Amino acid sequence: MIDRNFTIQTLQKLVQINSVNPMLDNSGHGEEEIGRYIHSLLTDLGVSSEITEIEPGRVNVTGIIKGNGGGKSLMLNAHMDTVGTKGMSDPFSGRISHGNLYGRGAYDMKGSIAAILAVAKALQDKQIKLSGDLVLSFVADEEYESAGAQELIKSIKTDAAIVTEPTDLGICTAHRGFGIYKISAFGKTAHGGNHHIGIDANMLTGLLLAELWNWSKKLPALKSHPLCGDASMHVPLVDGGRSLFVYSHECSIHAERRTVPGETEKSVRQELQKLIDTVSEKEPLFKAKIEPVLWRSPYEISAQSEIVKILAGSVTDFLQEQPHYIGHTWWEDSAIFGEAGIETVIIGPKGGGIHEDVEWVELHSVCDLAEILLHSSTSFCS
Ligand SMILES: [Zn+2]
Repeated sequence: MIDRNFTIQTLQKLVQINSVNPMLDNSGHGEEEIGRYIHSLLTDLGVSSEITEIEPGRVNVTGIIKGNGGGKSLMLNAHMDTVGTKGMSDPFSGRISHGNLYGRGAYDMKGSIAAILAVAKALQDKQIKLSGDLVLSFVADEEYESAGAQELIKSIKTDAAIVTEPTDLGICTAHRGFGIYKISAFGKTAHGGNHHIGIDANMLTGLLLAELWNWSKKLPALKSHPLCGDASMHVPLVDGGRSLFVYSHECSIHAERRTVPGETEKSVRQELQKLIDTVSEKEPLFKAKIEPVLWRSPYEISAQSEIVKILAGSVTDFLQEQPHYIGHTWWEDSAIFGEAGIETVIIGPKGGGIHEDVEWVELHSVCDLAEILLHSSTSFCS
């Protein structure tokens, strides 16, 4: 059913277009060029689509294959941006070798964009009419702040969605979330020789860091999920003090807490507040405040939901094997769609080197993904 040559040629072209997220690397081109390419391809296929500008150079592309009416609507989604290319020798080659296609974004997730476009081509070529609408959604900025997905849900609401992040053709029904918190501890500035006056905020922060370290060791036993593993925490940034010979008046850290399904922003903030309070009880000079910086919810969908059952049926029919259920340890746009009331499941191709120096996708798995998406779309929307 799927046009394999079209799928592979499209993927190669997609990888050859620089769509590095400019928020991660200021030499990145953003999504405008790749968005125009996808838009023109959809137009050539006879699919109506529009480009939505989020900010200059940053766009979403949304195509709709209208159903005859009466059926459920489904969204197939992929992000167009990639992480940067530092350390890669030829990031935009799209070179094919031994059945793999190489380059930045090949696996995460231009293989999936090509698969979704191949679904559109198959439906148009065979003149297959669905009852419900099929939305083909290509979003900006997933690798940074998900501005694209957040913009999309203002105007699009489907009954279900399939996010096509890489899963090696497993069915991902859960992923972790994260919360970033800034914690500032306060001291008292003074000349380095005035130890009776100065209070060192940096050393006091050390007490908190030790408490956080101990807590991070306990987390796996306390909070774990059968598909996405353990909750975790680390401190990616520490910033304190003004100069040598001056007592530090303030030290701030950013704690990054990775959450499992079931955890909430409130529960995680309270947990950190409790650790701050524990340090204050042991050391009365320790005074600190906590500020939430960014929250992204963990996500989970029931294996009994209709979209998961249909996808599982498509995998079984097409791959002739039992579906393999997985969870992801990183956060994805699926949580945004899930929170908007769209039942969302994740499946993507096989490959490797995600965010690494050598990235590739297995071409036959991209075509398999397209077949599975086509089968699921016709089942769900009919
Ligand atoms: Zn991705």
